[in-house]
Amino acid sequence: MASTTPRPSDPAPVLRSSAAGFEQVADLLAHSIGRIDSWMSEYGPVTPHPSLEVPRGALLEATEELHLRLRDNYPFFHPRYVGQMLKPPHPAAVIGYLSAMLINPNNHALDGGPATAALEKEVVAQLAAMFGFAEHLGHLTSSGTIANLEALFVARQTHPGKGVAHSADAHYTHGRMCSLLGVDSVAVPTAVDGTMDLQALEELLRVGNVGTVVATTGTTGLGAVDPVHEILALCQRYGARVHVDAAYGGFFTLIADDTADGVAAAPFAAISRCDSVVIDPHKHGLQPYGCGAVLFRDPGVAAHFLHDSPYTYFTSEELHLGEISLECSRAGAAAAALWLTLQVLPLTPTGLGAALRAGRRATLTWADLVDGSDELTLFQRPHLDILSYFPTRRRMSEIDATSARVLTAGMQLPPEQSLFVATYTVDGAALAARGHHVEPDQPHCRILRSVLMKPEVEDEVPALHRGLVSLVTDREPAPSGGDAA
Ligand SMILES: *Cc1c(COP(=O)(O)O)cnc(C)c1O
Repeated sequence: MASTTPRPSDPAPVLRSSAAGFEQVADLLAHSIGRIDSWMSEYGPVTPHPSLEVPRGALLEATEELHLRLRDNYPFFHPRYVGQMLKPPHPAAVIGYLSAMLINPNNHALDGGPATAALEKEVVAQLAAMFGFAEHLGHLTSSGTIANLEALFVARQTHPGKGVAHSADAHYTHGRMCSLLGVDSVAVPTAVDGTMDLQALEELLRVGNVGTVVATTGTTGLGAVDPVHEILALCQRYGARVHVDAAYGGFFTLIADDTADGVAAAPFAAISRCDSVVIDPHKHGLQPYGCGAVLFRDPGVAAHFLHDSPYTYFTSEELHLGEISLECSRAGAAAAALWLTLQVLPLTPTGLGAALRAGRRATLTWADLVDGSDELTLFQRPHLDILSYFPTRRRMSEIDATSARVLTAGMQLPPEQSLFVATYTVDGAALAARGHHVEPDQPHCRILRSVLMKPEVEDEVPALHRGLVSLVTDREPAPSGGDAA
């Protein structure tokens, strides 16, 4: 079926997001399917059951309909899509996922998939090494939400009766999961750069009701990096636990080197001394959705997960992943996808780090372009690869209206010129705190936000900026009733 058989030493690069790239992926996939098929055939033939037989024409027709429906998407793969935290997986992840998915192992128990459970332990160890954990207990999860839930569950078990503090800009999941766990949670105000206000945190810790502090290295909105090192020092003084939500920003550890195109070192270096950390390989780790991870520095927390099950855990005395997680069934394919990706793009500054650095450089370049323009104003300096900015206007109502118009107008351009950004809601105090003198004629307004998480965006930045400026300076629609339809 494959026109060319991939050779182990083939030096040709695998291309992404192009027809040639897809042809290579198709080739490698055909090769992988052949390899799985040959393993299966060792067990002898399987007679197909008529109940599962479908006419090829019906499948083709339904597939055609699926593909028509899939056109109703935003072009997440394209460098001109800088809206949300979305991008397609790396070809290695696709090949790894599909190969394992044909077997469909379940990483709940070693009985459900010994190979992918072993792969999961390896990738989790690689993530732990990236964060500098000397020892660890951890596993993959379906998402950052579940990973954070597990970390907060352990926080509750180790600090019973105590609450959880997170910054006001932390992901909303923390408040929600605390209420699910029956734990009090409190939002600590943010400082002028969107990070946790340390003075406010210390006042809270002094009162003594807080058992765990959640530090975020890369808030979902602004990409702000909480000063983990300083939070940790405070928490050590007051006997509180520190959990780091690095769901979005965790992989920036690879380029946290204080260089011009890197990110601040101290907060990421401090993660090694925190109690737990969550990272989402399905965000910056080039994975398809369904891949988060939680890591604990103390393997002893396994005691909080202990349970027995009469219908699992029978093929091995070794620790089963289901014994240390709240989730039961999980895709073994997700572990295979991440494992294969990290084999070719390892967790090093020049491996996966190079992709993050390109996005970081793009963000800094665009921040300078915005800073130098009359039409756009930078909301705040970016800590990672998320840019926040707004149309330069006198009133909040005008900023809001123009941001909303730019968002829609960019998406409505012909596909080959279209431009996809996102909006972010801020209040008058957040604008004033950052020194933006705009008339607060309404309490909130939308500003613009761009997530530059694809390395390919680096070449596109000048064009993106020009496109944004021209959308902002386009004639404003008439103020009322003049909706040009
Ligand atoms: C995305 C995100 C989450 C939630 O993770 P999911 O994988 O979407 O469930 C939590 N915290 C932060 C900081 C995030 O960016």
